[in-house]
Amino acid sequence: MADREYTRCLIIGSGPAGYTAAIYAGRANLQPIEYCGLQIGGQLTTTTIVENFPGYPQGVDGNQMMMDLRSQATNFGVDIRDGVITKVDFSKKPYVATTDRGAEIEAESIIIATGATAKYLGLDDEKKYMGQGVSACATCDGFFYRKKVVAVVGGGDTACEEANYLAGLASKVYMIVRKPYLRASEVMKKRVEENEKIEILYETNTLGLFGDNGVEGAHVVYRKGESDEKKYDIAIDGFFLAIGHKPQTDIFKGSMDMDEQGFIKVNGINQKTNIDGVFAAGDVCDPHYQQAIIAAATGAKAALDAQEYLNQIGK
Ligand code: NDP
Repeated sequence: MADREYTRCLIIGSGPAGYTAAIYAGRANLQPIEYCGLQIGGQLTTTTIVENFPGYPQGVDGNQMMMDLRSQATNFGVDIRDGVITKVDFSKKPYVATTDRGAEIEAESIIIATGATAKYLGLDDEKKYMGQGVSACATCDGFFYRKKVVAVVGGGDTACEEANYLAGLASKVYMIVRKPYLRASEVMKKRVEENEKIEILYETNTLGLFGDNGVEGAHVVYRKGESDEKKYDIAIDGFFLAIGHKPQTDIFKGSMDMDEQGFIKVNGINQKTNIDGVFAAGDVCDPHYQQAIIAAATGAKAALDAQEYLNQIGK
């Protein structure tokens, strides 16, 4: 690979948004280069069955779906690379992106589809037991907890999905939910409520973890700060976080408009950011929906926007 390359369209990220942008940009003959990032295929590669993507009546394995999208993009001539973009210089056009190997790519247009990563509670014990009982991915690590007891933190769809998945392996699953109700969709709620292996601890927060050989339990508190507050311990072998995600925008901080959580701001009608020729798609600019189908749709929009932009500037 030459030290400095040129492309009309650089796509950063490889989830449903990145790959769909790649399919559209490839088909439009923009000859895009796509950098996949650390987690090739994005978050859906760590999920089980995706049941709500139209066109799959039986659901589809998240990993398989991402591999299919990748080969579809490859069919349209997209140059897909397993590497990471570590910085982008937006100070002059064409913009210059630097890869983790130190190579530079001049890009007339850029589509940012870097997605989001799991959030943690911020407890010191999470760091202490990382990889020794603490995980943010049930499908990645659930295997290690066969016939053991685990806890899942969170009350959203992800937490329910993870709890259900883990219930298929573990002997018991606690859900630690800070509110008196689950935020998840009705169908997901029903599944966890009806699963005999799952016990939901409402109005409960985690104070810390303990154990000499990895996680052996969690200190929790019921109705913190209330007159009937109760602190107690639960014995668990695994502690899974499912409390939402934060956008992967660190490398763009200070160089483009973002909201207070770090989600890239887009126009709304289209996927334009505040920088000319730079577009965002998928969870990186979506604090609200965070759905594969929406990520894919915004990826398509971003590629169409990039195509229009390149036409306008005559590149
Ligand atoms: P959500 O933001 O929907 O839920 C996060 C959960 O974590 C909430 O219950 C929240 O509690 C809790 N939480 C957040 N911070 C803390 C904290 N510090 N301590 C304790 N609990 C905390 O995130 P999800 O990842 O579940 O879902 C994101 C989006 O993806 C949603 O739109 C969801 O519908 C979608 N999704 C859809 C799926 C599907 O349809 N198959 C599967 C997975 C996700 P509180 O309610 O109190 O804020």
